[in-house]
Amino acid sequence: MTTLADPVPGGRPGDVERATALGGELAGRGVHGVVLSYVDTAGITRIKTIPVAKLPAAAAWGVGMSPVFDTFLANDAIVATDVLGSPDGDLRLYPDLDQLVALAAQPGWAWAPVDRITQDGERHPGCSRTFLRRITAAAEERHGVAFKAAVEIEWSVGADTTPTDRFEPVATGPAYGAARQVELSDFLAELLAACAAQGVDVDQVHPEYAAGQFEISVGALDPVAAADRSVLVRQTVRAVARRHALRVSFAPAVRGEGVGNGGHVHLSAWRDGANLYSGGAGRHGMTADAEAFTAGVLARLPALTAVTAPSPASYLRLRPSQWAGVFTAWGLETREAALRVVTGTRGLRDQAANLEIKPVDLAANPYLTLGCLIAAGLDGMASSTPLPEEITGDPARFDAAEAAKRGVRRLPVGLPEAVAAFREDALLRDALGPVLADAVTAVREGESAAVAGLDDEQIAAAYRWKY
Ligand code: GLU
Ligand code: MG
Repeated sequence: MTTLADPVPGGRPGDVERATALGGELAGRGVHGVVLSYVDTAGITRIKTIPVAKLPAAAAWGVGMSPVFDTFLANDAIVATDVLGSPDGDLRLYPDLDQLVALAAQPGWAWAPVDRITQDGERHPGCSRTFLRRITAAAEERHGVAFKAAVEIEWSVGADTTPTDRFEPVATGPAYGAARQVELSDFLAELLAACAAQGVDVDQVHPEYAAGQFEISVGALDPVAAADRSVLVRQTVRAVARRHALRVSFAPAVRGEGVGNGGHVHLSAWRDGANLYSGGAGRHGMTADAEAFTAGVLARLPALTAVTAPSPASYLRLRPSQWAGVFTAWGLETREAALRVVTGTRGLRDQAANLEIKPVDLAANPYLTLGCLIAAGLDGMASSTPLPEEITGDPARFDAAEAAKRGVRRLPVGLPEAVAAFREDALLRDALGPVLADAVTAVREGESAAVAGLDDEQIAAAYRWKY
């Protein structure tokens, strides 16, 4: 379980001793440096690195970094809000020692995610990991609810010799095809070995639908650890790929059309050790709380899209009949509704049942995504929001009257529409706090401005290798 307490200047009790022991152990295993990562508002993982000998000092006093990165765009241009985006100020990055791990595919390196606090020891209001810790702690304290989450990771594989202005799949075998697995056999085996060495519990890795696309899924963890894991797994996929002269893209779309790369989120809610998505009297075994949680997420999906699909390229992926879930609807094991209720197999349901949220991609900051999904769901639970009727099949086939009758709407077709919905959503803005909420708005508006006049192919190209 992630420690939900904030870092403090000087270190929390025991942190420095622990960092000293862990640093010594890593050094003994040939580790020289530690990558300290966080994810910015635009969804880019940004880092500092330190020599392993400085780990105790980092645990005590953090590592400096400017808050300006909270309003960086994916192209590294800077936008400004009232409080962020200025060249002034400094923050301290505190590694989470619980997540510290030697990177199997980057010999000599270890990795840890960070929380960021101010030089005065206050929470940095722009820190997305702190936001998710705060939401998770409040859910436990106020509602007695804990969560488990996992982020599915899809990516497209090209060759690192191909010019970056185009995407050519390296593996040409068919979707889900044995041939494609054989083509990248060594890469995939090394990826599994690296995950195992890092203690990452892989459920599956497989060739996906789109050209040159693969997916890895991992076991569920508490929300903060699940978001950390999504960062670590992508770092690992990228690093293993480099060793095989491959270049990987986690961008929502590598081309202007066709199936994209998703980052579906699986979320289950638990009270007193029991899964609220299983064993209840509601539909498909959901408890009343799970139905209301699902309804809370469903009701806010258009605004949530500004967080879960944050790039102009996200809207190349978010198109009907591409399994990205672009309609405000839910269903049992259905792949075109935004929300898929997963019961799991008989015998495993109390552990496996969960809610899958599909309109999420890997341009999304996983900390913001999980925090906002939880905030939306908890609001549904607190207000006993009724869950509408489920749908089956592809909602794209509903005519306007049928869709209206069922309350099924298309999710935003572009980032400006998503931002407009987000601006209207007081609950999400309150949950994020004014600093993060303004950063989300400003960064999305900056991304939209950055692609003004570009066609779909050019938008895909602009973001293809960013995430
Ligand atoms: N690639 C699809 C997406 O963009 C998901 C495919 C699947 O259902 O795994 O969300
Ligand atoms: Mg998939």
